[in-house]
Amino acid sequence: MSSFIDELNDAQKAPVLHKDGPLMVIAGAGSGKTRVLTYRIAYLMEQGVDAFNILALTFTNKAAREMKKRISDIVGVSETKNLWMGTFHSVFAKLLRYDGDKLGFPSNFTIYDTQDSQRLIASIIKEMGLDKDIYKYKQVQNRISSFKNSLITVKAYFNNPELMEADAMAKRPRIGDIYQNYVDRCFKAGAMDFDDLLLRTNELLTRFPDVLLKYQDRFRYILVDEYQDTNHSQYLIVRALADRFQNICVVGDDAQSIYSFRGANISNILNFQRDYDNVGMYRLEQNYRSTKNIVNAANSIIAKNKNQLEKNVWTANDDGAAIKIHRSITDAEEGRFVANSIWDHKMQHQMGNGEFAVLYRTNSQSRAIEDALRKRDIPYRIYGGLSFYQRKEIKDVLSYLRLVINPKDEEALKRVINFPARGIGQTTIDKLVVAANHYGRSIFEVMENISKIDLKINAPTKRKLEDFVTMVKSFQIMNEGADAFTLAEHVAKKTGLLLEFKKDGTPEGIARMENIEELLNGIKDFVEGQKELADATGGLSEFLEDVALATDLDNDTGDDDRVALMTIHLAKGLEFPYVYIVGMEEDLFPSGMSMNTRSELEEERRLFYVALTRAEKQAYLTYTQNRYRWGKLIDAEPSRFLEEIDEKYVENLTPLDGGYRYKSMIDANIFGEVDKSKLRQTKPVNGTPPSIDRPNMTQLQKLRKIKPELSQPVGNINTIDPNLAEGSLVNHSRFGRGKVLKIEGVGNDRKAEIKFDHGDVKKLLLRFSKLEVL
Ligand code: ATP
Ligand code: MG
Repeated sequence: MSSFIDELNDAQKAPVLHKDGPLMVIAGAGSGKTRVLTYRIAYLMEQGVDAFNILALTFTNKAAREMKKRISDIVGVSETKNLWMGTFHSVFAKLLRYDGDKLGFPSNFTIYDTQDSQRLIASIIKEMGLDKDIYKYKQVQNRISSFKNSLITVKAYFNNPELMEADAMAKRPRIGDIYQNYVDRCFKAGAMDFDDLLLRTNELLTRFPDVLLKYQDRFRYILVDEYQDTNHSQYLIVRALADRFQNICVVGDDAQSIYSFRGANISNILNFQRDYDNVGMYRLEQNYRSTKNIVNAANSIIAKNKNQLEKNVWTANDDGAAIKIHRSITDAEEGRFVANSIWDHKMQHQMGNGEFAVLYRTNSQSRAIEDALRKRDIPYRIYGGLSFYQRKEIKDVLSYLRLVINPKDEEALKRVINFPARGIGQTTIDKLVVAANHYGRSIFEVMENISKIDLKINAPTKRKLEDFVTMVKSFQIMNEGADAFTLAEHVAKKTGLLLEFKKDGTPEGIARMENIEELLNGIKDFVEGQKELADATGGLSEFLEDVALATDLDNDTGDDDRVALMTIHLAKGLEFPYVYIVGMEEDLFPSGMSMNTRSELEEERRLFYVALTRAEKQAYLTYTQNRYRWGKLIDAEPSRFLEEIDEKYVENLTPLDGGYRYKSMIDANIFGEVDKSKLRQTKPVNGTPPSIDRPNMTQLQKLRKIKPELSQPVGNINTIDPNLAEGSLVNHSRFGRGKVLKIEGVGNDRKAEIKFDHGDVKKLLLRFSKLEVL
């Protein structure tokens, strides 16, 4: 038997070697589910299954790339090129490019991202004359998205009194009409949103048996990772495709189902045995990722959930360090603790930044962590925020490019028709939209025929519209001969976009210009990369497709060494030696919005289980007693999850008796205890030596006076730098720059009255304020 099979334990070998037919692997975190999937594909190929006949669905495109790479190592690169592997969205977008024409979509259809969808919905709400405070576009978009994920078409909606009643009760009786309009407009624009990629695939496979048969015949082996988080739409696609050959292999962990708020349905796992005959059921129990402490602690948490499949996860790895819990007074201090601790680990063990991850429940928590990491000169990267491709200037360039491929694309057109400004005002655009709706055509088509229709648009404006059409058409002609880079560069210049940002002259404008340059570099890279591939053209449409479906994780080339910051949801499937889970507080984690029912709370607990099981060597859990939320400082309570971990596996760095066990090396340095040779050995970060915030004498004296024997980390001093005086210039993390007018009070009551540059005068309690003296 092939040697790579020996890189698996016996329990893993069984599903890898399983003969044809359906099989399911249900197993806890870190037990090798993804590895089994990867090796099974390699094994199938080695047994002579044609790569063309294998379809693998993963949670991120990055995971797909990594799997492909591993498989290439085993069976050889050229073979893996023909595998269809990626997220549901990217795989089925590809399928719709081939066969979406049967549903009336052009093969060059645009993919609307969430922002495009929301903008379109906002304008439909406006055009319909509805109250935008009642019909909030984000909520409406969410509602429509949930319909689509449950395969509720417009027609089905209007046939469902319950749904209609629910919307009427919520004082939004026109939801169905908005839905109808939205679908029509997307169709007319030749556009699909993310949900459509699944919905339309389902429609295609249901309405066209010959198409279904073609893909059933093609995808003889189907494999799905993270099966617990598939939604109804995804479930149906998999079922339809697997129906003929029944060679379906799914792996998952019910304890890690964390997307039910987006329609993921855990019963897909529970019903698998009902859906297919003679299912091979496999369990994996040995965890290879984490220390005993982490595995056992995670087991003790998930055991509190009533709703779960029985699992026994163990590891042969070392005990490892206890899970460390840290309490701080403010979120800024929490950030400093994390930064200090990462810095210490790096110093002591010569580790790269990429070995650390900071995980949080909501994106807004990242700011305090970022501030602290920046002060320590520790490079980091935030995942899942606004992705590069969603930045304003990037979307502007991309919108022009999208128009080249699909001039019907309404959102792209509206975005750039008057940017850079060319004297086409909102009234004109409104008239075009009305005409487009009236004639059932796209806005671009109306513009092409502007001389023939009477829209009460004056002659000079008409000329501007015609110029715009001519410009887009000239790009289209160029696109037939040039590669994507040459075209994109031409477009950025010719449209005046580059100049627009250049002449702006502000640092922001310059940054935007640089981002456009970065985009062009990216396109160049893409074109070069495509040249090596036989079946790719390096064309613009391929580039746009990649971009439309790129997630932040996908842009991670793994080349740069940075601490990873991301929400727990995004961290699913990943692993890091050191993991910090911050904001372990009631109302935040578990989230205040998910504590109403047992099932919601159980999902939060699963999320905690996912978070903790990302750690290989060491996990930290931190919470703070005060936190800014919704612009207010609130008292925070420690999360109930902290108490739920079996205390055998936990060490409290900040017990309530006032002791303080965490001593950063930075403190040790202040107190002259550090081994200086270690400091010198430290690898420079990005070429610069790590900066150590050296407190000034007054701070030091103060520290010693408070508790000479228990050195608090420098980061714990909440009183502001004593240099703060009347007249000092300061920077506040939320209010911006200001000048201190007055200081009063002592100790915990010390306050400063500050006039901020934006006009307000505020009195701030220094103990809690996030101030920086400039
Ligand atoms: P998750 O539930 O978090 O997605 P998983 O079950 O998919 O986890 P993997 O990511 O496949 O687990 O494996 C976890 C880690 O253990 C990986 O680093 C993997 O390479 C390693 N691993 C898995 N099986 C073995 C094995 N038999 N020998 C050595 N290492 C293994
Ligand atoms: Mg996995």
